[in-house]
Amino acid sequence: MATISKESQCSDATAGIAETVRNKALSLGFCACGFAKADRVDSDAIDFYDKWIADGCCDTMDYCAHYSELRNDPRQLFPGALTVVSVAMNYFPAQFQPADAPQFAFYAYGRDYHDVVRERLRLLAAFIMQISAGAQSRVCVDTAPVRERYWAQQAGIGFIGKNGLLIVPDVGSYVFLGELLTTASIPADTPCTASCAGCGACLTACPGHALGNGGSVDARRCLSCLTIEHHGDLPDWLHGSIENHVYGCDECQLCCPHNAQVQPTEINDFAPSPQFLSLTGDSIAAMTDADFRSVFRHSAVRRAKLSGLQRNLSVITNKK
Ligand code: SF4
Ligand code: SF4
Repeated sequence: MATISKESQCSDATAGIAETVRNKALSLGFCACGFAKADRVDSDAIDFYDKWIADGCCDTMDYCAHYSELRNDPRQLFPGALTVVSVAMNYFPAQFQPADAPQFAFYAYGRDYHDVVRERLRLLAAFIMQISAGAQSRVCVDTAPVRERYWAQQAGIGFIGKNGLLIVPDVGSYVFLGELLTTASIPADTPCTASCAGCGACLTACPGHALGNGGSVDARRCLSCLTIEHHGDLPDWLHGSIENHVYGCDECQLCCPHNAQVQPTEINDFAPSPQFLSLTGDSIAAMTDADFRSVFRHSAVRRAKLSGLQRNLSVITNKK
């Protein structure tokens, strides 16, 4: 009769935790979930980020340069963390704005993803606590200094494309990312080694010529960063490139072959409201603060504020 050693029983049990947590994440609506050992970010990735900051590529997003020690080591951010749980959630819409309306990036169509992903990550954290003898977790959704695409790649759920976004094989790049830093010890997945290979479609498609080789995005040239994050007037050159982009830009995703077979999200929270779908240039121009709050009450678009939206619209309508 074959016997199972105590050691292999232990390793079977821990491997079981990975699949149990992954299955739970999938049942919560995530399309991918993987695990990486909580450790210091590797030096190449740190150098890449530091150079991006030193070159001024973060534009007015000064906060990107803060908290580098926390960003470079999740154990500094959450002492006792042993594992980074990385998750992705598909947001590709099933319904679209009319083509002649000022365009919002798809990610902003529905409810604010910070809230949606955070709620579901909290449920995942509670589940891990239940099955892992009280393991504690910190939920991170974009607002904490975490290298989310790096960790997603380390956790095997995708790779960083030349457009700077995470690409999940067989799913695409229209995904929100989130992480749990957890004291639970979960066996690490193999890092994803896929790549863009010889493709460079997004470098050509980018209206602001913001993409460098190797996934570097210059925020000073990126329509997404400029229309959402930039403070003050927009640069003159943008008048010739903004086209119809009033909030964000999806051009480097629309052209990506990894999105050719993208499926609409099944997360109802991300469905656009009829109010949103009926927006026009005229209605945005005439919008009051109360209208803005009504249409975007639960939306990430609040980040740009009404003044930012109307600033962008005036560049679209007066473009050279
Ligand atoms: S979001 Fe638009 S402007 Fe920014 S890198 Fe992608 S294609 Fe270029
Ligand atoms: S368009 Fe091509 S180069 Fe750009 S991210 Fe997609 S696969 Fe990579």
